[in-house]
Amino acid sequence: MGGVVNRILIAEDEPRITSFLEKGLRASGYTTTVVGDGLGAAGLARDIDFDLLILDLGLPGMDGQQVLRTIRTRGERLPVLILTARHGVSDTVAGFEGGADDYVTKPFRFEELLARVRARLRDAGRTELSQLEAGDVLLDLRTRRATVAGRTVELSAREFALAEMFVRHRDQVLSREQLLSHVWGYDFDPGSNIVDVYVGYLRKKLGNARIETVRGVGYRLT
Ligand code: CA
Repeated sequence: MGGVVNRILIAEDEPRITSFLEKGLRASGYTTTVVGDGLGAAGLARDIDFDLLILDLGLPGMDGQQVLRTIRTRGERLPVLILTARHGVSDTVAGFEGGADDYVTKPFRFEELLARVRARLRDAGRTELSQLEAGDVLLDLRTRRATVAGRTVELSAREFALAEMFVRHRDQVLSREQLLSHVWGYDFDPGSNIVDVYVGYLRKKLGNARIETVRGVGYRLT
């Protein structure tokens, strides 16, 4: 994670607060994007890869609760830190049920918010290990879901295991024997052409050009 600049989306409609947040977070080394309405926030969270969403509950158009529900319904695990008025405690409880990770009540000191932001990003960094990436191929090891260029691709358990092997060893040539033993087990008939058959399936799903045949040796994800 060293050297990675975390991108934070701030969904808040009060200019006084957004400017306070932007200044402080930028000075702390984060990249910030501000959006002043709920619909815009839900759209940006879908289209851009943010590391954290700071979400005000009282937003025009679509309120913070609806934004959160929309994001979670889409299955995105973007960490969400809610900003709520001190009198909105019942909203806050509902926020956690709707999939928020933490909350800060207004008014807040910047240091207080920064501590929450850092804690959330640390947590997210740990769960990042459950996702593998190679170019635009992304594998979520927990949900066993694969996406290519942002589009979900249906993989069988065996195909997913094979894809995982390739992604973990991107740019390396993997022999049929290596693939066979890792994905099918050591007791599988080494004379079988099952690896080639499944590489064919994966090519159809991930795109032909992504898995290269290295003649006489094996396959490589590029
Ligand atoms: Ca507001």
